[in-house]
Parts: sequence; structure tokens; C-alpha cells
Amino acid sequence: MKMKIQKSNSKISKEIYFDGAANTPVDKKVFRVMKPYLTNNYVGNSSSIHEHGINSARALMEARKTCASIFKCTPEEVYFTSGATEGNNWVIQSLALHEKMFNGMQKNHIIVSNTEHSSILNTCKELENWGFKITYLPTRQGVVSVRDLKQVIKPTTLLICIMSVNNELGTTNPIVQLSRMAKKRKVLFLCDCTQSVGYGGDNIRLCSTYPSVDYFTFSAHKIYGPTGVGCLIARKDAPLYSMIHGGSQEQGLRGGTSNLAGIIGMIQAIKLMDNKSLKKYYLDLFNYFVVNLPKDIHLSFNVMKPTHYSIMNIRLTKAKTIFSKDYTLADALINKGMACSSTSACDLQDETKDPALSHVLLAVGLTEQEIVSSARISFTKYTTKKDINKLIKALEAINKGE
Ligand code: PMP
Repeated sequence: MKMKIQKSNSKISKEIYFDGAANTPVDKKVFRVMKPYLTNNYVGNSSSIHEHGINSARALMEARKTCASIFKCTPEEVYFTSGATEGNNWVIQSLALHEKMFNGMQKNHIIVSNTEHSSILNTCKELENWGFKITYLPTRQGVVSVRDLKQVIKPTTLLICIMSVNNELGTTNPIVQLSRMAKKRKVLFLCDCTQSVGYGGDNIRLCSTYPSVDYFTFSAHKIYGPTGVGCLIARKDAPLYSMIHGGSQEQGLRGGTSNLAGIIGMIQAIKLMDNKSLKKYYLDLFNYFVVNLPKDIHLSFNVMKPTHYSIMNIRLTKAKTIFSKDYTLADALINKGMACSSTSACDLQDETKDPALSHVLLAVGLTEQEIVSSARISFTKYTTKKDINKLIKALEAINKGE
């Protein structure tokens, strides 16, 4: 087992949280609306026929309607899931299985960018065992180019999977143009929106922001909602087949008792994100960091232009501290009480990967030494300029070898 246990001298409570891309705290307003759904009033299973059940079913229906009105789709296009991993697996595996079983693999080709989350990449790797051909499209500094995508689409392409915002780099893909091109070539398009919805505002109104995307996925725990619940939006003219067989929940396509309290919490989180864009707040924090960074700290961003300002992938290029796979910049920052990350939290327990070497940073061409000298810093809406000052102090000390 390669999982690395971080050695930290600081108590958790004293840590400053810079890992919003991995998880966000549940907003108090979200917690408040969830509570009744965890106790007596809504104890009913939303599929039961007594009053408790009917109340729960009604609440679920209202939640779906609210969700649809914010995303600008119909309630029938909303599927509640356990999170983005499930949504991504659902779309990719169900389309592939259907193609294999009923269409003789006429469309046996899938395109993904090579900086996708592992819930996309590892699902596609599994499909290679089923006989599918996967193109792992390289990016330019973490961004997929429309021209590059155009060149790899074939008549046999079944699906394209490209994320809106990269969870390690903070780069943004031109989803409007990429998906428009996919539509022109009659190829289905899945967009993992897990990080972009965290900005709120237009970024949460998915269907109007990205009119040509067929499938959207995300998780509630990145937007101040509870963990273990998420959403898949599948356009009504886009095919979707059952993957979790069981009861008739989610229009008969996903069996299993609905996670009502989780869904109610997620809808409240979505409403809060819809009310207020966090873009300016994050841009201010990002600029504050850049402006206040002392000149003698040689710090680079691992991509030329992070455009989603709540995620920065930084590297110290001339630090006196010696970084290695056993002691990365992320480790050094954690030892100074900065709760940051070296890669996606989801990859830290992957036995096939070295936790110190992010597949995303390898994909954008960084050397091993550059990768171990790097850390992902990601903000939440509770991050303050005071926190940034402490981060800068920690970087200064690490730079001096302290
Ligand atoms: N996609 C992206 C871009 C993510 O950042 C994450 C979470 N790290 C996921 C998918 C998976 O989300 P979950 O673990 O909630 O299923």
C-alpha cells in the first residue's frame, strides 16, 4: 500500500484550510434545512405510501423542480446520485455497455483529456478491457484545444469527456466551443462540472451556460453541501441507461432509497451558489497572494494561467528546503499548519499511483523534481486575507530552509 500518511506537527484545529477543491464545510444554512429531514417529520421513505412517505416524496419532487429551474432544464433531466464519481461512471459505462450489447460496437471510440479526474480516466481504462479504443487527449498547459479535439474525432466516436475546470490546476476548458463542435459531429459530450459549480452565478446555471453539453456531473460537497450526494443532468434527447438495478427510483434508472436529507442539503447549497457568484471573492484572494508574495521567493504557477482563481498549483523553484517524494512542498506546508494537497485527494489511496506524483502534473509535462516541489492550494468562501498572510509566511520559511 503506497498511501502516504502525512506527518503533521500541528493540531488539526490549528490548521488553516487550503483544500477547498477536495471538500468544503457544510454551510450553516444548508445544515439547518437538512435537520428536519433527518428526524421524525420526514422519516418516511420517499417511495412509501403512508403520509410520512408521501411528505418525503413531495419534498423530493420539489427539490428536483428547484434544481431544474436553477440549472435551466426540466425535472426529468435531473438525476440524483452519490456524487460526481457515480455520475461519470454512470454515463460512460452505461453508454459503453449498451453499445457493446446492442450495437455491435459500431461506435467503439471515446475521447477524454489526459488531465481528467480519475473517475473518468480509470473508467475509460476499464473500458479498454471491454474492447473500446480510448484517446487520452493531451492538453496545452491544462487546456484542451478545439483544434486538437477536432483532429481526433472519428465516425466511430461514441463520447467525449472533458471537464470544465481542472481540479488540480485551476485551468478552464472552452466547453462552449468544444461541445459545439462535438454536437456538429454528432458525438455525445459529458462535462464534469465538479469544480466549476463552486464559483456559483452563471457557473451553476449549467444548461444555459453550456447549451451543447449532453451530460453534466458534480458533487454537493464541493459547494458547501453534504458529502455523498451529487447530481447528473442528462439532456432528454441524450441516451442514458440503468447501471444500478433495483427499485424504480430516478425514473427507474438508479435503484436505491433516495438520500432525501442529502438531496435537500444539496439543493439549498445550489440555491446559495445561484444567489451569489464567488468569482470576485476568489480573484481578490488570488491577486492579494500574488501582490504580497516577497520577490525573493521564487514561486511559479504550474500552468501559465490559472483562470479559476480558487485553485492554484504552485512550485518553489529555488527553495533551501530539499523536496523529494517523501517530503514534497505540500508536506512542508502541512508541517507548517497549511492544510493543502499534493494531488486530488481521490488519488492518495490509489495503490497503482505514487501519491507524490500527480497524474495531472505529469500530463502537463512537469519533471518529478518539479512535481515534488509543488502544492495545490485551494480556497473556500471562508478563506481570508489573514489566511493568505500565514500561507506566505509559511512559504517564506520553507524557502529559507526553516
Ligand atoms: N471530478 C472532479 C473534477 C473532482 O474534483 C472530484 C473530486 N475530487 C470528482 C470528480 C469526484 O467527486 P466525488 O468524490 O464526490 O465523487
